[in-house]
Amino acid sequence: MPEVTEGREVLIVGAGPVGLALGCLLRTYGISCSIIERHQQRLQQSSAFSLHPRTVELLDILGLGSWLRSDASQVDQMTIYSEKRPILNYDFNHLNSHGDPCIFSYPQHRLERLLELRFLALGGNLRYQTELQTLKQNECSVCAELSHLGRVSQESYLYLVGCDGKNSHVRALIGTPFVGKTDDNRFLVCDGVLDRTGGAAVEDLEQGHTYLTAKGYIMLFPLPGGLHRVVVAIGGEANADTREDLETLLKHRLQQVNQAHLRFHDIHWISEASLAERIADDYFKGRVLLAGNACHIHSPICGHGINLGIQDAFNLAWKLSLVCKGHSEEVLFQSYQQERRSIAAKVLKQTDQLHRFFTSSHPVKSLIRDRMIPLLGRLKPVNKAQVMNFSGLGHDYCEGRMRWFADVKVRRGSRIGNLTLINLGKPVGLYELLGSDKFLVVGYGVEGAPPDIPQFMQRHVNFLHVCLEDGNCSPHPSSHNYSYRSSYFFSESREVLKRFHGIIGPCYLFIRPDGYIQDVVEMMPTFDALCEIRNFLIKNNILIAGCAHSTRG
Ligand SMILES: Cc1cc2nc3c(=O)[nH]c(=O)nc-3n(C[C@H](O)[C@H](O)[C@H](O)COP(=O)(O)OP(=O)(O)OC[C@H]3O[C@@H](n4cnc5c(N)ncnc54)[C@H](O)[C@@H]3O)c2cc1C
Repeated sequence: MPEVTEGREVLIVGAGPVGLALGCLLRTYGISCSIIERHQQRLQQSSAFSLHPRTVELLDILGLGSWLRSDASQVDQMTIYSEKRPILNYDFNHLNSHGDPCIFSYPQHRLERLLELRFLALGGNLRYQTELQTLKQNECSVCAELSHLGRVSQESYLYLVGCDGKNSHVRALIGTPFVGKTDDNRFLVCDGVLDRTGGAAVEDLEQGHTYLTAKGYIMLFPLPGGLHRVVVAIGGEANADTREDLETLLKHRLQQVNQAHLRFHDIHWISEASLAERIADDYFKGRVLLAGNACHIHSPICGHGINLGIQDAFNLAWKLSLVCKGHSEEVLFQSYQQERRSIAAKVLKQTDQLHRFFTSSHPVKSLIRDRMIPLLGRLKPVNKAQVMNFSGLGHDYCEGRMRWFADVKVRRGSRIGNLTLINLGKPVGLYELLGSDKFLVVGYGVEGAPPDIPQFMQRHVNFLHVCLEDGNCSPHPSSHNYSYRSSYFFSESREVLKRFHGIIGPCYLFIRPDGYIQDVVEMMPTFDALCEIRNFLIKNNILIAGCAHSTRG
C-alpha cells in the first residue's frame, strides 16, 4: 500500500452537497482534503429544493447563511388539504426567537455551486471525472484505487469519507447493510411555471400546499425566479413512460384536486423517483466513514434528505479534524455514528408514519386524519413542536433527562442558536465565532478578571467573555487572549435568552464547533478550572491526555 503523502489527509468521494460541505469545513479547520467526483461537471438539475432553518444556521459557520437568506425564496406556511379542504397549516412563524421563521427554497445545484466556489477558495482540491474503484485499509491509512479517463492510480490517505449518494460504492466496499425498504410508490418531480388562468383561487402561490387525495398527494412549492416545484405521487400502476404521458398525468391530477384554474407550463425539468427509506448499520468502519445519502435515505415528505446530510457533515468535520491532528482518537467517531444515526432513524420513522397517514386510502384512517388533525393542529404547542421538528431546530443530542443548574436550564447536547452578540457597537453572529475545530467557552455574566489562558488550552478552546448587558462591559486590556480584548453582550433580551435558550447566567457555556452545548459549568475561571475543562474533554474521549502523540499543530 503506498505511503500517505503530505497533503493527503482526507479523501471525500462525491461532490454532492454533503461532500462539498464537509470539504469546506475540513479546509476551514486546516485539514488537507481532496474531493473526487465521477461526473464531468456539476449537474444542473434542481433535485432538492428546501433548506431547513437549522441547515442555513449551520451554513452561517461557513459564512454562507446571509447569502442564502438573500438569494432564496422564503416560505413561512405550508398547508395540507384533504380532498380540497384545509386540515393543517404548518406556520413557521412559530419559530421566531428560535431561528429563521421559514423554509428556504433554493435549488440544490445552486447550493452546490456556492459550496464548490467556497471549497476552491479555501484551497481544496476537486477532481471531476475521477471515480473510486476500490479501497483497502490498514491501521495507518486507506488506499483508494481511482480511475480518471481510463487511467488507474492509487492514492493513500489517513481517512476516506463516502459522500457518494444512495447507491454508495463506498458503503458496498466496507460491507455495511443498508436496511429498509423501497416500495412501489413513485413520484413525479417537476419544475416549471405555475400561474392562474382566472377563477376563484384561494391559494397564495408564495406558500407551500399539499393536497391529499385518494389517488395520492400533490405538492406545490415555490422556487426562486418565479418557478414552482410540483411533486405528484403516481402510485405503482400509473402508465407514465414518456414525457408526454407524464405531462398528461400531471394536468389530470391538478384537475382532480380542483386546481383546474392553475396552469403548470414551461416545464423545464421532470424526473421520476421512487419511495425508499433505508439506513446504514454502520456509519464508519476503521478509517472509512459515510455521510449523507450514503448512509440514510428518506421519504420525500418534509424534504429531510439534503438537510440531514449537511448536518452530518457539520457533526463529522470537527471530529475528523481533531483525529487527523492527533488531538483525539478514532473512538470519537463512535459519537458521530451514535448522534447522527439516531436522528436519521427518528426522522425515518416519523416520515414513514406521516407518509402512511397522508397516503392512506383506508376510510377509517382517512376519517380520523380529517377529523383529528385539524383539532390537534390548532393547538399552538402541537403545531410549534411539529414545526420545530420539521425545521431541524428541534433535533439535538441530549441524552436522558434535562440537567438543571442553579442558574441555567440547558441540557447537554442541546442546540444553541446563532445568537447575535454586540461587539463595539457592531452585531456579530455567535456562529461566526465558531469557525474552527476548537470549542468555544462563553463566560456569560461571570465576574472577575479572566485568567491568562495557558498554552495547553489555547490549542483546544477559544474563550469569549460575554457581559450580562451593555454597560456592564469592562474591557480587560491586561489580558493577551484575543477574546478578552473587547467585550461582547447578547443583543437578545435576558427574557428571550431565558425563555427560548434556557440561558440565565452567570455560567460558562461550553459550545461544540457544530453549535451544540457540550456542557455548562458554573465556576471561577481559575487555572484549576481550565484543567477541569481539559480533563472533561479527555474523559469524554474528545481529547487525548496531554496530546502527547499529536502529529501537528
Ligand atoms: C428528483 C429529486 C428530488 C429531490 N428532492 C429533495 C427535496 O426536496 N428535499 C431533500 O431534502 N432532498 C431531496 N432529494 C434528495 C437530495 O437530492 C439528496 O438527499 C442529496 O442530494 C444527498 O446529497 P449527497 O451529497 O449525500 O449525495 P448526492 O447528491 O447523491 O451526491 C453523491 C455524489 O457522489 C458521486 N459519486 C457516486 N459514486 C462515486 C464514485 N464511485 N466515485 C466518485 N464519485 C461518485 C455522484 O456522482 C454524486 O455527484 C431529491 C432527490 C432527487 C433525485
